[in-house]
Amino acid sequence: MARHIERHPGPPAESSYAVALRQFDIAADRLHLDEDYRQILRTCKRELTVNFPVRMDDGSIRVYQGYRVQHSLARGPAKGGIRYHPEVDLDEVRALAMWMTWKCATVNIPYGGAKGAVVVDPKQLSPRELENLTRRFTSEIQIIIGPDSDVPAPDVNTNSQVMAWMMDTYSMNVGHSVPAVVTGKPLEIGGSEGRAEATGRGCAIATRHAAERIGLRLDGARLAVQGFGNVGQPLAEFLRADGCSVVALSDSRGAIHRPSGLDPAKVARYKQETGSVIGFPGSEPLSHAELLAIDCEILAPCALANEITGRNAEAVKARLVVEGANGPTTPAADQILADRGVLVVPDVLANAGGVTVSYFEWVQDLMAFFWEPQEINAKLEQIMTRAFRAVVTEAENHRVDLRTAAQMLAVKRVADALKLRGIFP
Ligand code: NAD
Repeated sequence: MARHIERHPGPPAESSYAVALRQFDIAADRLHLDEDYRQILRTCKRELTVNFPVRMDDGSIRVYQGYRVQHSLARGPAKGGIRYHPEVDLDEVRALAMWMTWKCATVNIPYGGAKGAVVVDPKQLSPRELENLTRRFTSEIQIIIGPDSDVPAPDVNTNSQVMAWMMDTYSMNVGHSVPAVVTGKPLEIGGSEGRAEATGRGCAIATRHAAERIGLRLDGARLAVQGFGNVGQPLAEFLRADGCSVVALSDSRGAIHRPSGLDPAKVARYKQETGSVIGFPGSEPLSHAELLAIDCEILAPCALANEITGRNAEAVKARLVVEGANGPTTPAADQILADRGVLVVPDVLANAGGVTVSYFEWVQDLMAFFWEPQEINAKLEQIMTRAFRAVVTEAENHRVDLRTAAQMLAVKRVADALKLRGIFP
């Protein structure tokens, strides 16, 4: 196999893709992974960029750019969310696709990794414009998505309504309903019980195991959550039910603090009415930087990538960092946190509850037979617990941190699949 081909040799330092590649190299070095397999796994298998017109409410036309990237299909159909964000770029989508491959392999579900995005601030669009954009984007990427090939899901700024439009568009284009083409759909059209809160529930399961590992009692532990959305809100509610005091929360507009504890359900209602957590009665405002440095036992970054870096990791006071978001901690920050004895539960493990219940949704859609919530939650608990234990065992056997352990476990599983399948032709 030629060793000199590098299709995209490397992005600027500290982009999410650079971080993903460095994390991969650390795991691959530890595994003594063959150079040929490294080469395959360091690159994304397919990268589709689409530029497409959308008709706006005033009759004008705007052209948007979107992406669907499939990192690996070695273990099954590609799986990964669709993000709408004004600053997203192809490099970030590559990183997110690669992390999806490792995440699915860490929890050992039969998927490869993918991610999609549109460069757009959806808050500037009307509901009709958002639907037009979603339907046209779905048609543009239809050539590579499908229930057997690549199954999208919600991510930042997309939700079950967006998934419903994607499922309908794909179905209209092929002439019959294909619910299994996306997950995270509303229950009425083939969604799964438990999907909406699955990532937060899985994160809470991982937090319980991690807290037990460091001898931290959740009852009375202080929790700060960065990013009060699909992931952060249910996580805050689950951990509060375990006895944690939610002392700080944030969204893109800023953060709030209440040393005696916030009720996340009430903050969610307030955010629904006002558009932000800012100004919640009884809370003090905080800056984004102050939230990360707040006095607490557990910090859950549940917003975007590259938030805990070499520049601010020293200031983190938590004993436990649980990565609800993808890629929130850079390798430099990992090192600082490890040196200070902070346990980091990595994204590919901590937030894998979402893709796990997405997998349940896909299986239910393919069977056209639906499960009760208790069954979903019990299976989720089982898979998260099994994955947590496997990662801890790997970490102990190789004396590495949980991120490296999870990546080693995942990279080995994907490389084994590649080796067994062989190189075509
Ligand atoms: P979301 O859009 O529902 O919520 C994101 C939240 O973060 C919002 O409240 C937003 O206001 C806030 N935010 C944005 N920038 C911020 C900043 N700089 N500081 C503080 N808050 C900020 O998105 P989501 O689906 O909850 O995804 C959040 C993260 O979790 C992403 O990294 C995503 O890839 C990851 N993730 C999501 C899922 C899922 O099932 N939705 C699964 C696994 C991982």
